Amino acid sequence: MSDTLVLTIAKDLLSRKSVTPEDAGCQQMIIERLENLGFICESMVFEDTTNLWARRGTAAPLFCFAGHTDVVPVGKLADWHTDPFVPTEIDGYLHGRGAADMKGSIASFLVAVENFVNKHADHNGSIALLITSDEEGPFINGTTRVIDTLEARNEKIDWCIVGEPSSTNKVGDIVKNGRRGSLTGDVVVKGIQGHVAYPHLADNPIHKLAPAIAELSQTHWDEGNAYFPATTLQITDIRSGAGASNIVPGDATFQFNLRYSTELTADIIKTRITDIFAKHGLDYDISWIHSGQPFLTEPGNLLNAITDSIESVCGYATELSTSGGTSDGRFIAPTGAQVVELGPVNATIHKVNECVKISDIEQLADIYELSLINLLAKK
Ligand SMILES: [Zn+2]
Repeated sequence: MSDTLVLTIAKDLLSRKSVTPEDAGCQQMIIERLENLGFICESMVFEDTTNLWARRGTAAPLFCFAGHTDVVPVGKLADWHTDPFVPTEIDGYLHGRGAADMKGSIASFLVAVENFVNKHADHNGSIALLITSDEEGPFINGTTRVIDTLEARNEKIDWCIVGEPSSTNKVGDIVKNGRRGSLTGDVVVKGIQGHVAYPHLADNPIHKLAPAIAELSQTHWDEGNAYFPATTLQITDIRSGAGASNIVPGDATFQFNLRYSTELTADIIKTRITDIFAKHGLDYDISWIHSGQPFLTEPGNLLNAITDSIESVCGYATELSTSGGTSDGRFIAPTGAQVVELGPVNATIHKVNECVKISDIEQLADIYELSLINLLAKK
């Protein structure tokens, strides 16, 4: 039996060593396929990152598949049963770094688009692919820069499917219709170093920090809402000490991170936290890293098209979720686009022996194609 087109393309992508931020020629292969279908392809190279914006048609609404060609490093090579850059089929699964995150999805995008355009060349609106080689790294020169470029020329995505591996047990069982925000604080609490035997001459930053941390860890931030669980804060690091039991340290540092719902904003959270620090009399410096605003896509054209497609292809209903980490959806949603993440099962992502069920990426291509039909085919 010969390989299906999805499998052939997935193997081609997996054999390219595109460890972040390398693209290793993946996008050139994608460009060749899309140009044959009448897409206008713009390669946008920013510093070390290669991005692709490919669009077919000029009319609205604009539908976009978003994804990345880069993969995380392989980790301990000795723990892999197969060469991570030699795509290998084992018992119905395709093994290789990036199989599930997310070269399998990109193969499914391409097959869905080819099948759709071949049957509906005169579709409504436009179809685009936004592909980056830096989603797994510092993501400074990837999707966010492409979105900046599109915004500058007022090119707006209406509907976007991000191919991140959203599924848990079987393909399409979960789609992500939003993501929590992520806010990190790095704090240096200042004290006065001194001899432990003369504490009145010192100012112990740990003693001030401890009750503030206790309060932070017990604070009830919000109730969440119908789509989001309650906001949570985790202390992720505490350091202090001068290296001896007879010294009161001069400073203490700590770090915390919040995953927050659409009930809060980063500014509200910052105010509440600095109020707590003030209450405990901390003398401190803080730096904030706001790595993602929360976003939510409520039921509408895009979600309806996707949930119907999953039901038709898989025969079961999907579940909406906003759990998990951040994705490049956070850069696309603030432009006003409806954004949903739908991809294969995520059980092996970022692990050794990453793999994807071959029938899953074939079904995924059918789901993506049907979503296009639901949204853009002329009736
Ligand atoms: Zn990914």
